[in-house]
Amino acid sequence: MNVQNLMTDLERKHPGESEYLQAVREVLESIEEAYNEHPEFEQAKIVERMVEPDRIITFRVTWVDDAGAIQTNLGYRVQFNSAIGPYKGGIRFHRAVNLSMLKFLGFEQTFKNALTTLPMGGAKGGSDFDPVGKSNAEIMRFCQAFMLELWHNIGPDTDVPAGDVGVGGREIGYMYGMYKKLAREYNTGVLTGKGMTWGGSLVRPEATGFGALYFVQHMLQRAGRELKGATVAISGFGNVAWGAAKKATELGARVIAISGPDGVVYNPNGMTDEKIAYMLELRASNRNIVAPFAEKFTDATFISGKKAWSIKCDIALPCAFQNELTEADAEELLANGTWCVAEVSNMGCTPEAIAALQRAGILFAPGKAVNAGGVATSGLEMTQNAMHISWAAEEVDAKLHYIMNSIHEACVKYGTEPSGYINYVKGANIAGFMKVARAMLEQGVV
Ligand code: GLU
Repeated sequence: MNVQNLMTDLERKHPGESEYLQAVREVLESIEEAYNEHPEFEQAKIVERMVEPDRIITFRVTWVDDAGAIQTNLGYRVQFNSAIGPYKGGIRFHRAVNLSMLKFLGFEQTFKNALTTLPMGGAKGGSDFDPVGKSNAEIMRFCQAFMLELWHNIGPDTDVPAGDVGVGGREIGYMYGMYKKLAREYNTGVLTGKGMTWGGSLVRPEATGFGALYFVQHMLQRAGRELKGATVAISGFGNVAWGAAKKATELGARVIAISGPDGVVYNPNGMTDEKIAYMLELRASNRNIVAPFAEKFTDATFISGKKAWSIKCDIALPCAFQNELTEADAEELLANGTWCVAEVSNMGCTPEAIAALQRAGILFAPGKAVNAGGVATSGLEMTQNAMHISWAAEEVDAKLHYIMNSIHEACVKYGTEPSGYINYVKGANIAGFMKVARAMLEQGVV
């Protein structure tokens, strides 16, 4: 494979799809060497096939807001790759959603899902619907209108959506209700992230954050470091940030920052149960601001317009959005003595930021390894649904532990460089790629 030629070709075919092109380039550059050791992959044009989604479904979503005005949004489902299992991946509602964003996320999801050890292909969907400031009734009507179009294309053995940015338990509930009405079947396995009384899995709400911290624990253990006593800066305050803050605190770390689009909350004394619970309230308020946290808890200070990375910390955990940690942020973290950065958001760091962190030789791991606990637990939800049973929280948590450990092991296996430095980006990409590539090869040209 020649990465530059492949990228030139993709740039020509998909002009302006910057996030998608960024995600593809990162993977191709890191797998190039391993790929070229397998002439059978080259012959079967595996990479050329893998970078294009199997199919893209786009649709119009029309709904009526509380004022009676008609609103039109765009809806998408990108079914990226089904070599190792049915399509699986979240749905994102955010005003910036476009095809490039969902293609990048679907591409990443393919590798991430392969890492989980479970049989799940890769997909992503969403809409440019902006939940900020919407009433509960508006969110319900939008979710119903979205599902009215999507339902033909999904199913427990076809494509299984879940939550992502802007889509949590409430939205999954409204979408499931509409799906059930249209399909006239109680197919619990069609969506994951469901409520506990109607097919949801215990630990799924916490799983992305918990899994991330289990992964960080493994990284630290290998490097002879400890979470206990470490200071942690987290960006975001949604579901993923909440799970990460909860587990980091449980494991003895001090979460000294959370952030929102409006600024950062400096929280020098760390989290309490009450503070962690309040993060959920903040998210549910649909206002997308973090400042009220510092009004409620007076030992915390709100700093307007600043990012979480301006706070001196040992460990930085991006938990919000892609490219939220730039090269300048990486330099600031390094100057402040940060020794570990783990992406919990998908593609949370820019390529320049990753290069700076790796150059400095600090611990760095990519989202597709660190945040895989979320989709892995979705896979466990699908298993429980298929078996018509539900496991105890301890059982799900033990399986999540096992999965995060095996992802870490896979990264070490494929990512250890001659110097002994573990390149987790390379490790995760090669491990995920090999599994999908072999399956595609064995299934012939389809
Ligand atoms: N949106 C999550 C992710 O990025 C979860 C997807 C899922 O559970 O299907 O992996």
